This record gives sequence, C-alpha cells and structure tokens, in this order.
Amino acid sequence: MQTHQNHDLLIVGSGITGLYAALHARSLGLKVLLISKANLESGSTFWAQGGLAFPTSPEDIEPHIQDTLKAGRGLCDEQTVRLFVEEAGQHLHKLLSYGVPFEDHQTLEGGHSHARVFHAWGDASGRAVSVTLTQAVRDQGIEVLEGAFVQALLISESGRVVGVQTQNQNHLAGAVLLASGGFGQLYPVTTAPEEATGDGIALAYRAGAVLRDMEFVQFHPTVYLAGNRGLLITEAARGEGAILLNNHMERFMQQYDPQGELAPRDVVARAIASEETRTGKVFLDLRHLGAEFVQHRFPSIYKRLLSQGVDISTELVPVSPAVHYTIGGILTDVNGKTTLDGLYAAGEVASSGLHGANRLASNSLPEGLVFGVRAVDAALKDLKFEDPASRTLLETVDSKASVQQVIRDGAGINRTAETLRVALSDLPRPTPSNGTIEELEAGNLSRIAETVLRGALQREESRGGHFRTDYPELDEVRHSLFQIPPLLETL
Ligand SMILES: Cc1cc2nc3c(=O)[nH]c(=O)nc-3n(C[C@H](O)[C@H](O)[C@H](O)COP(=O)(O)OP(=O)(O)OC[C@H]3O[C@@H](n4cnc5c(N)ncnc54)[C@H](O)[C@@H]3O)c2cc1C
Repeated sequence: MQTHQNHDLLIVGSGITGLYAALHARSLGLKVLLISKANLESGSTFWAQGGLAFPTSPEDIEPHIQDTLKAGRGLCDEQTVRLFVEEAGQHLHKLLSYGVPFEDHQTLEGGHSHARVFHAWGDASGRAVSVTLTQAVRDQGIEVLEGAFVQALLISESGRVVGVQTQNQNHLAGAVLLASGGFGQLYPVTTAPEEATGDGIALAYRAGAVLRDMEFVQFHPTVYLAGNRGLLITEAARGEGAILLNNHMERFMQQYDPQGELAPRDVVARAIASEETRTGKVFLDLRHLGAEFVQHRFPSIYKRLLSQGVDISTELVPVSPAVHYTIGGILTDVNGKTTLDGLYAAGEVASSGLHGANRLASNSLPEGLVFGVRAVDAALKDLKFEDPASRTLLETVDSKASVQQVIRDGAGINRTAETLRVALSDLPRPTPSNGTIEELEAGNLSRIAETVLRGALQREESRGGHFRTDYPELDEVRHSLFQIPPLLETL
C-alpha cells in the first residue's frame, strides 16, 4: 500500500465543516488534504434547507444562547453554547465574503424566540453554502481526494492518531480532523443522505476515543415519506405560518405546547407521532400562505413534492417524523480535541456540548464553522509527525438493512426497556474482516447501533431527543459516555 506523508492536516469530510476548515487551514499556511468518500458537494450540508442561525445583533446574543440552552434540556455545556453564539457572527461575514448569497429576510424556526435564520437560494441554503465553499476550495488549489473512503485511522506506537487509510493508500499528517458527519442512515427512513453512515464516529470508537450521549437522535417532525427516502419540509415552513392538522382536520399543537407549531423539535415530533396513532394521519397545511409565496419561498421543496404528485401550495401534505440529526458523537472540548492525541472532530460527528439533549434548529451548520475553525487553530499548535504502527480494525456486517430494522423497532421515537433489550440481542454484530464499502459502512453502523441502544437502555428518563414511555419524566442531569479498548491491527 502506498504511503503519502507530506501534509500538515488531513480533513475527512467535505460538508460545511470540512470545506470551511480547509479554507481556514489554508489561510494559516497549512498544507491540507481534504478527503471525501463522495464528491466535494456532499454530506447533509448539501441537503440543508432552512438555513443558518446567527444572532442578528449584539442584543440578540443572549436570547440566542438562552434558546439553545432551553432546547438542550439541561444537557448543553453552557460555556460551549456561549462561545458558539458569541463567535458565530464573524463566520456569517466570512461566508458573505466567499459569496454565499444570503437573502435579506431572516426566518423564525421552532425553539427560536427571534427571526434569526439566514437562508439562501430560497429553501436550498445548504446547497448554496456547499457550492460556494467548494468553488473557493478549488479556486485556492487546496488538495482534494474525492470518492476516497476512509476505512481506518492510523495509530503510532505512542497511541497518537497519525493518519488515515483509504481503500488503497495510507495518508500521514501532523493531525487529523474528522468532519465526516452523522449517522442518519442507521435508520431505514431518514432525511440524511447515503453518506451519513457515521464512519468517523465508528473509527474513532475503535481507536479508543470516548463517545458521548449516543442515545440522542433527533427526529424531524415534518417529513414526507417517499418510500425509504424522507423528503424534509423545513421548519421554516412553520416559521412562515404553515400549520399542522390531524386526520380530523383539527389543529392540535396548542394542546401539546404553548409555542404551538413552533415548539422545539422533539415536542412537535412526538405530538405528530401521537396524533398519527390517535387519528391515523397528520398533515402540514401551507395553502393559506398563497401559491405565489409558497412557490417563491420554498422552490426546491415545491418541485420535489410536485414530482411525487403533491402540490404543497394547494394541497395538504401528509407528514411524519423521521430521523434527521445525530446529536451525540465523538466527545470533544471547545477546540475540537478528542480524547486521542492527534485526533480532532467538528460538526455533526462531534459531541461538543452545544446541543445537549436536543439541537436547536439551524444551529448545526454554524456549528461546523465555529468548531471547524477552532479545531484547525488547536491542531496547528499540536502538529507531530510519527510513524504508524497499527490501524483501527476493519469490521463488516452483510447489509445495513439488517441493522436498520433492529434499530427502527428498538430505538424509535418512543423507546422502552423491552424494545431496547430485544434490539440489543437481535443486533447483527460486526465481524473483523475486510469487505466492500457497503459492508464496512454496515459494520460501522452496527458499532454505533450498540452504543445507541445501550445508552437508551441505561437512560431511565425522557429528555429531548430521547423518550422512554416507561420513564416519561426527567431524572438527574448526566451524560452517557462510551469507550472500548482500542481495536487495532498491526501494520
Ligand atoms: C435534509 C436536511 C436538512 C437540514 N437542514 C438544516 C438546516 O436548515 N440548518 C442547519 O443548521 N442544519 C440542517 N441540517 C443538518 C446539517 O445539514 C448538518 O448537521 C450539517 O450539514 C453537518 O455538516 P458536517 O460538515 O458536519 O457533515 P456533512 O455535511 O454530513 O458532511 C460529511 C462529509 O463526510 C464525508 N464522509 C463521511 N464518511 C466518510 C468516509 N468514511 N471517508 C471519507 N469521507 C467521508 C461525506 O462524503 C461528506 O463529504 C439538515 C440536515 C438534513 C439531512
């Protein structure tokens, strides 16, 4: 296997976190390699709709902090939240300088007390960011590797992460930043793209890194189900005045939360699930907003659902909750530093303490900006070049569908000790072996599934994205931590 050893920093993933971190690293003079298993315009970033939450003025900093803490249900790290909101604004200016075409009007979304969500290209904000930053990366001649699946971390004799292994090459560097996104694909129906198989989380776990709060998985309330693909209808639709109706054509959200349709996501998602059980179906109604407004404000959603035979400007849209966002992940400090030397993580792959038990809408794209930059700054002070002695074990499972079915039944929007125990015993366990990319991804999902199930079983309470029907109340504030002895193979 060929080895490349001339980079300061390797960045795995080219969503908002990886692209922006690569640009920042380049501006500091670092020699960077940006690796993506898909093309550069990829990850959940490309599909993000609603936008990016930034405080709209110095007076809006404290309310943004408070909204984030409230959504996090007591599990956020307040220092992380404060620093995030205080630093976010400077990155808005940077995105504008790269040419992200933010529109003048900001939107209200669930859990926000103020209209502070900046959007671009109507409801294709993530695509606007992805395309613009990809162009900037190409313009600056940053070295990239597309279609390259990172399958293992490389570890030195001293236990430091010194590089990554793609399918046919070892890449060594002074530090590694994982920006590889979440694990929406753990569930059979998700809004997250095919790439979201949690690879970075599984690789770090096998290397001995600590993971945190894995049981917290966010369900988006309003998803149109087109087979296995969940077509998201952004929270901004409710921000602009869309309402929810049950099958009896009753508006029900006020009975669940005084904020009605703009209650935090976990509340709206569970309310919809409960009205589906009670009345059969739930609909999102945008008709009163007017066809012209709907088509102009939500052009991508309008076209995607029209192709499924639903005109969202004139018809009720059947919606259900579906898995959307990975709240837990690799434990990091505020500088993206994981518990392993040489390894940094930022964006959806990380558990930085920003989201607590429930992510506030549109905080995750800016999270990639703030913590991607912080991680690069910290890595710069900690570059060390050592030879690899081992790599994390390769593990496979035959198909991800077998893992998805078990997790769907065991750790859905409502969980109980019984569903979780059954799932833990039925879960296909990974086999140490090499395999196809799909088998390796399924192996990663299986490792992750076990942590989700164990965390959910041990958390005998309901909080944010984790709801136990057998323990519906809050219990003491505590984090779940997961760590195994390193699973390494000598090179
Ligand atoms: C449909 C949808 C709508 C959303 N809307 C919003 C919104 O409006 N506002 C908001 O703030 N958030 C939104 N989110 C969440 C947000 O998009 C994500 O949290 C964010 O984009 C994550 O960025 P990231 O850079 O951490 O990872 P991602 O954007 O997911 O990028 C991950 C990257 O890692 C690469 N990768 C993964 N594994 C490997 C591997 N093994 N080897 C090499 N490369 C790998 C992928 O190819 C990809 O390039 C939405 C999510 C979805 C799914």
